[in-house]
Amino acid sequence: MFFIFGISNGRKQLDYHQSTVCNVCGRYGSYQVFMEYMFFSLFFIPVFKWNKTYFVKTSCCETLYTIDSELGRRIAKGENLTLGEEDLHVVQRGRYFGIKRCRQCGYTTDEDFQYCPKCAQPLI
Ligand SMILES: [Zn+2]
Ligand SMILES: [Zn+2]
Repeated sequence: MFFIFGISNGRKQLDYHQSTVCNVCGRYGSYQVFMEYMFFSLFFIPVFKWNKTYFVKTSCCETLYTIDSELGRRIAKGENLTLGEEDLHVVQRGRYFGIKRCRQCGYTTDEDFQYCPKCAQPLI
């Protein structure tokens, strides 16, 4: 008799979508909720899960938040709740955070330039 077992990471997307105006990039997007967990498997069958963490990702700029596991559990059960700013804890800001765009020529940069390096227009 021998056992095949292992510990792995899993990720599951929850059935949740909420439209929002993103407070990181200022565009329309939606929140997607997913859960990450560790699981122990025996003969490739997950036996138990633990360490569940719930994440929220915006579709506009892929800013990543965590939410309280209590909220996550309610979403996982199918409860139709609304996530507010106070529920979201930023893990990583999205790809458009801190990017400046020149109004004149459209040049974008994430560096701290005062003036556009292409056309010398002041950047805001
Ligand atoms: Zn965004
Ligand atoms: Zn420019």
